[in-house]
Amino acid sequence: MKYVEVLLPLPLENTYTYSIPAEMEPVVRNYCLVKAPFGRKRYYTAIVKEIHDHHPDPSFKCKDISAVLDVNPIINPLQMQLWDWIASYYLCKTGDVFKAAVPPGLINNEIKKRQKKKTISRIQMTDDDCLALNVLTEAQQTAFAEIQEVFKTKPVCLLHGVSLCGKTEIYIRLIQNTLQQGSNVLYLLPEIAFTKKIKERMTHIFGDRLLVYHSGFSDRKRVEVWNRLLHANESMVVVGVRSSVFLPFANLGLIIVDEEHDASYRQHDPAPRYHARNAAIMLAHLHGARTLLGSATPSLESYYNAKSGKYGLVALNIRYGNTSAPFVYIANVKELKRRKIMKDSLFSPILKEKMEDALNCDEQIVLFQNRRGFALIMECSSCGDVVRCVNCDVSLTCHRHTNKLVCHYCGYSVAILSHCPSCGSKEIKLAGFGTEKVEDEIETLFPDVRTNRLDYDTARTRSAYERILTCFEQGKSKILIGTQMLAKGLDLKQVGVAGVLNADSLMNVPDFRSHERAFQLMMQISSLAGRNRNQGTVVIQTSQPDHPLIQAIQAFDYKRMAVDQLNERKTFRYPPYFRLIVLVLRCSNEQTLEQIAARYAEILHEALGERVMPPFAPPVNRVQTLYVRHIMLKLETTFVVAQVRTILDNVNRQMQSFPGFSRIVLHYEVDN
Ligand SMILES: [Zn+2]
Ligand SMILES: [Zn+2]
Repeated sequence: MKYVEVLLPLPLENTYTYSIPAEMEPVVRNYCLVKAPFGRKRYYTAIVKEIHDHHPDPSFKCKDISAVLDVNPIINPLQMQLWDWIASYYLCKTGDVFKAAVPPGLINNEIKKRQKKKTISRIQMTDDDCLALNVLTEAQQTAFAEIQEVFKTKPVCLLHGVSLCGKTEIYIRLIQNTLQQGSNVLYLLPEIAFTKKIKERMTHIFGDRLLVYHSGFSDRKRVEVWNRLLHANESMVVVGVRSSVFLPFANLGLIIVDEEHDASYRQHDPAPRYHARNAAIMLAHLHGARTLLGSATPSLESYYNAKSGKYGLVALNIRYGNTSAPFVYIANVKELKRRKIMKDSLFSPILKEKMEDALNCDEQIVLFQNRRGFALIMECSSCGDVVRCVNCDVSLTCHRHTNKLVCHYCGYSVAILSHCPSCGSKEIKLAGFGTEKVEDEIETLFPDVRTNRLDYDTARTRSAYERILTCFEQGKSKILIGTQMLAKGLDLKQVGVAGVLNADSLMNVPDFRSHERAFQLMMQISSLAGRNRNQGTVVIQTSQPDHPLIQAIQAFDYKRMAVDQLNERKTFRYPPYFRLIVLVLRCSNEQTLEQIAARYAEILHEALGERVMPPFAPPVNRVQTLYVRHIMLKLETTFVVAQVRTILDNVNRQMQSFPGFSRIVLHYEVDN
């Protein structure tokens, strides 16, 4: 009798053992799909991880697999290794990784028949195609050569190139080289929004050897891309977002992680909560491939790894076409308010002046405010109460277009109030501001100028997003107001002025990464100004003009920010010097949660000592009716991953007997 170990697409740690009916024995193979009964009369599509002939436990009646759904393996052994690594490093279940990795259409029983293998016509490179390649500048050529030199000795290289240095041209050369050597390439981008332009550019060069993959695709389309890659008989380049690391690559030669610092590479919910940049580096390692990380403002982790010699480092400091970096003005909002100059306006005199200048020269303007909505809060002047969400620990944001107060965490909304819900006073008013209010004042200042707003409310769908961008790119609208959607890979040619309306709100986020993120975001916004012509202008409004971070931004000095931040990270035991694991505990009863979190931390402390921080309530400590507590672990980077897991599993087992523990929802966040 033969048995199989199968992995189910469920949040389960282990594989399960089934027996193989004799008639199916000849066709069952590793990594093929089978139908398996599990739980009460339910059947799942499972993947075969191992075939063996030892009955696991005589007392246990082993069930038969019910069918072989596909005799061809749907993944390769390296993919399974990647899944196992993600599960162990990010402290989640392999079943969760399986579920996230494979397009639902492949494991859905209804789609059993494989799509017919498409014949892929070989595209001969003609002279015309070669014309699609731009000639590299001297600086690009040097960087290209340096990267190749690094790859001779190191598997990972960081390309730290200022924006507009023409990184894409270098990527294209590397991709071409790799394809010519007969290996596949994965080109990762943080957001779907980026893929369209890159796709157009790359289709000209790579033709049918280009595959695009992202979560915005229909299931059918995702299955099609998966199968094309699985059956490709020539080397391919895949352009995609984070989930592309799960595609069935064989013989991978190169992975490019563009905008490697971007937070979208991390998956937050649901599990697996992984970071695609790190998963990509592991995937490349399994294939013996090279990884190129590219960014104008690298993550401090990657920068540290490059500086310490673990990765290679190639710098490219010359902007394409030799345009100079924009000039940055800092407006001291605190002082202006004290002198009652910004009393009724969101705009400092310098920003107003620069906007007028730009419009007079027929240049465009982008304005950044990191919150959407009209006002941030509704506040009572009598009792000081702020209107809050009934489900979450956050204040409601006023949206004037819909006349509602909305929770940005759970979507709860109520009509705008005329009385304070706490004391009944009529003295209730709006405070703070979001993109809607910026738009409002712009309409008053420049009534004849066409303006667009780009945020989650106006660009909820991809077509709406593209409509707004096209309108601005074609110069039909002159001013674009937006949230951080603005920073996402826009290629704007006519922008003369970029304004950051409230830098403080970015810097004051209570998170150890907030300064790094604020810097990255403001640099991205700043580099939108003055792309094609003269020097652009940036105005940053802040109450902390002397803050080192603001000074670093004004000087366009990444290194200064990095050195400051790395010093702080070292002092306070944060990444990249320490590895962070956060236990996130949630419960509908706050008291139960408090008790359990305290006990949990105590037991963890017995095993891990001072590496365990006391439990604390995160800035938003109630979401969708569940209260939240965090327990943070700061581990030495030398701490073995498997050992951490064993300790955490042991503590978790001990906690099971604690009263009320069954009401707790727990997950881990690693390196977040
Ligand atoms: Zn009140
Ligand atoms: Zn809410």
